[in-house]
Amino acid sequence: MNVVAPLTSALNVRDQFPAITGWHYLDSAATAQKPQAVIDAIATAYGRDYATVHRGVYERSAAMTQSFEAARGAAAALIGGQADETIFTRGATEAINLVATCHPRGDRNRVLLSQLEHHSNIVPWQLAGYEIDVVPLTQDGRIDLDAAEAMANETHAIVAFAHVSNVLGSILDAKRAAGVAHKVGAKLLLDGCQAVPRLSVDVADIGCDYYAFSGHKLYGPTGIGVLWGRKELLDAMPPYQGGGAMIDRVTFERTTFLPPPARFEAGTPHIVGAVGLHAAIDWTQGIGLDTLHAHESALVRDCRDALRGMNDITLFGPDDSAGIVSFALDGVHPHDIGTILDDEGVAVRAGHHCAQPLMDHLGVPATARASFAAHSDASDIEALLRGLHKVKRIFG
Ligand code: PMP
Repeated sequence: MNVVAPLTSALNVRDQFPAITGWHYLDSAATAQKPQAVIDAIATAYGRDYATVHRGVYERSAAMTQSFEAARGAAAALIGGQADETIFTRGATEAINLVATCHPRGDRNRVLLSQLEHHSNIVPWQLAGYEIDVVPLTQDGRIDLDAAEAMANETHAIVAFAHVSNVLGSILDAKRAAGVAHKVGAKLLLDGCQAVPRLSVDVADIGCDYYAFSGHKLYGPTGIGVLWGRKELLDAMPPYQGGGAMIDRVTFERTTFLPPPARFEAGTPHIVGAVGLHAAIDWTQGIGLDTLHAHESALVRDCRDALRGMNDITLFGPDDSAGIVSFALDGVHPHDIGTILDDEGVAVRAGHHCAQPLMDHLGVPATARASFAAHSDASDIEALLRGLHKVKRIFG
């Protein structure tokens, strides 16, 4: 069945991903599959080079410390930051929790979020006792920065937006968002989870104050992520957790702390996670983020065009979505779509995508979501379309 016009974009890296052989993996926005280079780096780090960091006097530990700090440098450089402003966390979730807990908010007790935020950019602010104001979306699913500008005021400590939406794929005008925040003396935190794997990011150029992302969405391991923060902000922040590796001097009466980033990295870190992340950054930069973005954008265009050709489909988000296509099929629950597609060897996400307030706004309990990565190609879209025709036959 010829269900879709010939598609062109392919980076020909599919055979570098051993875990997707014979499988159409369209759930990279949830977590990216790992290229062999990353798997090898992790295996070598455990199988040959392993030792603790920062504490050992022996050579292996010194070498591992160098690798760990080199990973920090690479993570900083990836987003245009400095190494001493770059904190390793468990992921974006922990990064945002850290800022929500420790940001010196003064007497400002409100945050400005948007309707499309992931739960991990909502709940930490609630737990930290902030009041939340919610910026609406434009008709085509972008954060409405005109509305944000009108809403921002001196009670806002932080404006915190997704750089790229994990449901709609909409890309924020981040520079303008920084202007909106700074005009009222607030700080801008960007949730870069979906941006870092597919856009070239430069925190200095954007002018943001905090930037959070997760390694596992960037072809790296789980359990490692990054919080970048402006030096003067991090310097002013109290520790997030206490323990080893973050102290200067401990007595039972009083403890003094190391400067950032060590102040925020209590305990033995995810050493091999950092090494794996470094390999993932190198791998991604080897392709080039502009190339990756162009590749995924072409696939999104082709996928949206193909889906539009089917009846009864609702597409969410803008046409220039970054790597993500969310959709609904009239009369079919997204979970049924996901299950039938799974039978066809196609993995999509079906659910609320950890964005229940956005589902409320869209007026649906869930969507189906196909998301693309470096290894995606025409065969994935063709398989998706074949699967959706089967869904329609079953429910039709
Ligand atoms: N923000 C966005 C936009 C995301 O897509 C995700 C992951 N789905 C997160 C935050 C949370 O990331 P993690 O679970 O890796 O901490």
